[in-house]
Amino acid sequence: MSESSEEKVAKKSLNFIEQIVEKDLLEGKNDGRVQTRFPPEPNGYLHIGHAKAICMDFGIAQKYGGVCNLRFDDTNPTKENIEYVEAIKEDIQWLGFQWGNEYYASDYFQQLWDFAVQLIKEGKAYIDEQTPEQIAAQKGTPTTPGTPSPYRDRPVEENLELFNKMNSGELEEGSMVLRAKIDMASPNMHFRDPLIYRIVKTPHHRTGDKWKAYPLYDFAHGQSDYFEGVTHSICTLEFVPHRPLYDLFVDWVKEGKDLKDHRPHQYEFNKLNLNYTLLSKRNLLALVKEGLVSGWDDPRMPTICGYRRRGYTPESIRMFVDRIGYTLYDALNDMALMESAVREDLNKRATRVSAVIDPIRLIVTNYPEGKTECLSAINNPENPDAGSHDIMFSRELWIERDDFMEDAPKKYFRLTPGQDVRLKNAYIVTCTGCKKDEQGRVEEVYCEYIPQTKTGEPESNRKVKGTIHWVSIAHALEAEVRLYDRLWKVENPRDELSRLVNEEGLETIEAMKRMINEQSLEVRTQCYVEAFLAKTQPLDHFQFQRIGYFCTDKDSVPGHLVFNKTVGLKDTWAKMNKQ
Ligand code: ATP
Ligand code: MG
Repeated sequence: MSESSEEKVAKKSLNFIEQIVEKDLLEGKNDGRVQTRFPPEPNGYLHIGHAKAICMDFGIAQKYGGVCNLRFDDTNPTKENIEYVEAIKEDIQWLGFQWGNEYYASDYFQQLWDFAVQLIKEGKAYIDEQTPEQIAAQKGTPTTPGTPSPYRDRPVEENLELFNKMNSGELEEGSMVLRAKIDMASPNMHFRDPLIYRIVKTPHHRTGDKWKAYPLYDFAHGQSDYFEGVTHSICTLEFVPHRPLYDLFVDWVKEGKDLKDHRPHQYEFNKLNLNYTLLSKRNLLALVKEGLVSGWDDPRMPTICGYRRRGYTPESIRMFVDRIGYTLYDALNDMALMESAVREDLNKRATRVSAVIDPIRLIVTNYPEGKTECLSAINNPENPDAGSHDIMFSRELWIERDDFMEDAPKKYFRLTPGQDVRLKNAYIVTCTGCKKDEQGRVEEVYCEYIPQTKTGEPESNRKVKGTIHWVSIAHALEAEVRLYDRLWKVENPRDELSRLVNEEGLETIEAMKRMINEQSLEVRTQCYVEAFLAKTQPLDHFQFQRIGYFCTDKDSVPGHLVFNKTVGLKDTWAKMNKQ
């Protein structure tokens, strides 16, 4: 017996959307064509949730030899602009994807208008001039039918005349809407005469003031998919209840057209939600506008450009999305998963360097004054092809303040009087003491080096328990280092925000201020990095040895270096939670 297409695709390890696509292909649907689209509204910058949708939409097209187009869903001129259009394009390309065509829902305004006029003529749409409150009050509930609008049976001619007026500018915003005449008793609330056109007088960033009547999402999306030839229209789960309406409008727009079985189908997957993270462009815009962050690309923002500036790579974001997968259930993903993806990726690509972010002076008292040595540091032990670079050694070094302790516990393997420690890539030194100021704070640490223990020399493999990093004071460059923590104090900021707003009656911004982590940014000036970093460019990735992964910030210029901490070397939060 031959296998059914279900059986064939079930054998592969595919996500459920891939299974649907493979089954369609095996059954010869859409003439073997796969066409998807990524449909952002240009009302803000893309965030990590969009990355999940992008990986799906573009990934399906790539995998099945199809095409994914970029379609800007620009049906709300009051919130949209060209800055967002450009930023969205940049972010998609940075993530590693390329669209086929660039489309705009506004390209179809004429077609959609003509279709609406056709519906009016067929008695399938009417102009309602009730207030939004009246319309809402008539909707009914899922178990009780709605009340028909008193304008439901308005004559066609009158509807046509008023629809033209909606678009001519002579009517006020909100004074009238066009509604599809479907079924006020339908158990699907979206069928209860949905609004399909409204008046917006703000000029549009592409069509200027040509249109005043704008189609609403449900009336634009499916039809745009149909006009473009989309086969698989993939979106997130909140659109499940919209699907019957999507299908109905596609049925209506196809009616009488000889286009065989070619029609788009909508499929839904679960949205990405991350703990300690607030998504949604509306909320992110509020943060930017209120100055609670420095901009859309603040490295604490969950935007693609924020992650980029923070030092995330496209590969790490794609790896993360791939690992969390696509399901039919909403979940709250752990940020630690995303951090482990970037750690794993940067481990392979980041050059190891020395940087001291809480400096104290270490004097190698038996090393000749004025002498310098050029030593060598391996760029990346994970990648032999990465080579090495020069580092300078001298008598006075910067080390981390916490790498010295005067009275150290037993297992402290760093500098403490009498103990041997290796200075990474240089010598073993014996700590001899320190100098303190009047308050008892350590000002300088002293040690003696053992010349025959130079790294790479025959006697260098003498055992020591600790290795610390350092930079030569005479050669070091001063730098500003920005350390980041989670932007939100609460694990599920989305739910907490809605609780504070809906139950406690707070304004959105006040609620946000209550939830924000005031310690999410720590700026350290007077850090020191090795001279190798003099020519670093924004977005270069480094591992500051023993500290974490860092990325050169866009504010960095020769003479004023600035680095962002991408992520620590270990998951410190998991450790803290276990304690
Ligand atoms: P936001 O509320 O953040 O503005 P949106 O859904 O309104 O999100 P759009 O620009 O309309 O944003 O969405 C473009 C695509 O991205 C849609 O297909 C949408 O379903 C998807 N998307 C948005 N947020 C997420 C998310 N958190 N996880 C996965 N996909 C998402
Ligand atoms: Mg939106």
